[in-house]
Amino acid sequence: MNNIDKYSNKLIDCRRKFHMYPEPGWCEFRTTYIIYNKLKELGYELKYGRDIIEESSRHGVPDGKTLQHFAKLALENGVDANFLNEIKDGFTGVVAELNISEGPTVAFRFDIDCVKIKEADDENHRPRQLGFASVNDGYAHSCGHDGHIAIGLTFAEIIANNKHLLKGKIILIFQPAEEGVRGAKAIIDKGILPKIDYMFGGHIGLSTESIGSFSASGSGFLASKKFDVILKGKASHAANSPEKGINALLAANSIISGFYNIPRHSQGLTMINVGVINAGSFRSAIPENAELQAEVRGENNELSSYMYEKAVDIVHNISKAYGCQYKIIEAGSSLSEDCSPELVDMVHNIAEKSGLYNNIYKTRQINGSEDFTYFIKHVKDDGGQAVYMLWGADIKDSFHSSHFDFSEESMVKALTVLCELLKNIFMGG
Ligand SMILES: [Zn+2]
Repeated sequence: MNNIDKYSNKLIDCRRKFHMYPEPGWCEFRTTYIIYNKLKELGYELKYGRDIIEESSRHGVPDGKTLQHFAKLALENGVDANFLNEIKDGFTGVVAELNISEGPTVAFRFDIDCVKIKEADDENHRPRQLGFASVNDGYAHSCGHDGHIAIGLTFAEIIANNKHLLKGKIILIFQPAEEGVRGAKAIIDKGILPKIDYMFGGHIGLSTESIGSFSASGSGFLASKKFDVILKGKASHAANSPEKGINALLAANSIISGFYNIPRHSQGLTMINVGVINAGSFRSAIPENAELQAEVRGENNELSSYMYEKAVDIVHNISKAYGCQYKIIEAGSSLSEDCSPELVDMVHNIAEKSGLYNNIYKTRQINGSEDFTYFIKHVKDDGGQAVYMLWGADIKDSFHSSHFDFSEESMVKALTVLCELLKNIFMGG
């Protein structure tokens, strides 16, 4: 496990191949198939499909058209039809286990989905220049999860090649639908994970600006809840009989104003956003339907709940005032959880000893949400420890932007840290 460099070309090649075929949350069909085959070849015990995803906890599944679109692309790109059948309704991701002997259970999470954004076309954008830009129009790996998959699969290979040096049980979770914080809870709620002693997650370039920086943990994760509001009114002629209609668009408008008027909380940071509104169908008809996509966040779980409960009250009362029917559909959630301090210390020491980084932090503030927080809570509640690392990566442009890219050397460094962690746990350093 000392010769990581010999894997680095493979690692970079792997990232570029996944980068070309980005798939959004619950549609990672080709991605899941390739991960599955690679891990199978390496001798892991594998679970996937409905065996790892709890359907009732699965939120924010795209509409049938989007699922079908990506299933068709997967078939065209060589995914086995029987395999596809098992996952095509949005049951993506793979959980791999390697049982070596008695000893601790160590788990790693790698997220695998992309972002719905069009990748930049210009020649200055490196993936375009080097010929590995997205071929799935309108979708791009602009959060670096292609790098996470590549790190995960190369790590899986190193583990398999060095099995004789290890003990215990290793679990590799290739998680779907991290964007929109949808996938982690569905895996945990399935109840297939054994008791985990140590669990690791991480992200390329998040809150670590340069390739030389590293943080042993992220902190200040915002608890969040994503939700859709569906309003149903009644259509009528706008001039001839407006009094017979129920205007869902106006109800939506009042709801949005109500949302932004929720008082801030004295106990900490709260946020609310309406990112999408769709309403109406015809210029001279009273709009019958309206739909909002919204989210709340809070510095802790209670503050996020405060915002959500207020938002639900507003939807209920305004809908009633307008005479609209409404439905609120949960679309994703995450928690505010702290990493385990002892494990943070272990990761910090290993990063210091490695000589890979010149700017090493114990923790960096995350200005966002992560559903790895569900894993942190799950593992800690079970008596284990969990940590979320930040791997410096010289990010180009910004996350979720069309020109996003990162230094691929960051993957080699991250992989080295993961190997050092394993050595430390199983071989005492
Ligand atoms: Zn991400």
